[in-house]
Amino acid sequence: MYVIRKQGFHTKKELEVHLQNMKKELGREYHQKSPEYQFLLELIQLAHPHATEKIGPGIKYFYVEDAGRGCTRFAFERVDGSDDIFSYIKCKDYFGRDRDEVVATDAWKNLLSACRTAIADQLSAYYYAHEHICADCGVTKDIQVDHKNKNFVDILLEFDAPRNDTPREFDDLPVEETDGFRGTHLFKIRDVEYMVAFQEYHRQVAVLQLLCRPCNLKKSRQAGIRKGVRREVSGA
Ligand SMILES: [Zn+2]
Repeated sequence: MYVIRKQGFHTKKELEVHLQNMKKELGREYHQKSPEYQFLLELIQLAHPHATEKIGPGIKYFYVEDAGRGCTRFAFERVDGSDDIFSYIKCKDYFGRDRDEVVATDAWKNLLSACRTAIADQLSAYYYAHEHICADCGVTKDIQVDHKNKNFVDILLEFDAPRNDTPREFDDLPVEETDGFRGTHLFKIRDVEYMVAFQEYHRQVAVLQLLCRPCNLKKSRQAGIRKGVRREVSGA
């Protein structure tokens, strides 16, 4: 799972199709404040091998230009008036570099972590209310709570997509308050409305089950979900 600007992509191919659609229309411009601008900027920041040099003093807008041979490519103008192009092939390569690499910005990772903390009580209540048997193989050791129908990242993406109050800053969870269920971050007091709404959404849509650690890992791998992005909580 790659998360760029609130959008999740399960495979490199999905990401590529999305980018190809964005550069279909020759001459199309993506200006600051548009979601497409934010998306391309975040892609460069995340994944371009020379992000700092590419961005330079800042990017004014992106546009789609003729690359010859019937192809188009992404180009941009910087705030100082200089033009440049960028190849998302270079970005795409980054995603294949390390299978376990977490591809997400810190703000996104921290949001995910704060949301885990927010629903920790729901998971621990489920864990302690059920007999500790793996739903797949029946073993009783190393049992974890798993999101059965939809994974946690997708639940958060669905919840967050229509909102415009996504928190970007978080508090650290004090070490003495961590347990197997919580993330490492907390929502700030001012974001309590977002937090409570997410708790409620999760309560409604999440279907939980208990799996042993190996079965849980196997499921994550089959789903192509990155380790780290989907670090399911452990009650063991
Ligand atoms: Zn199992």
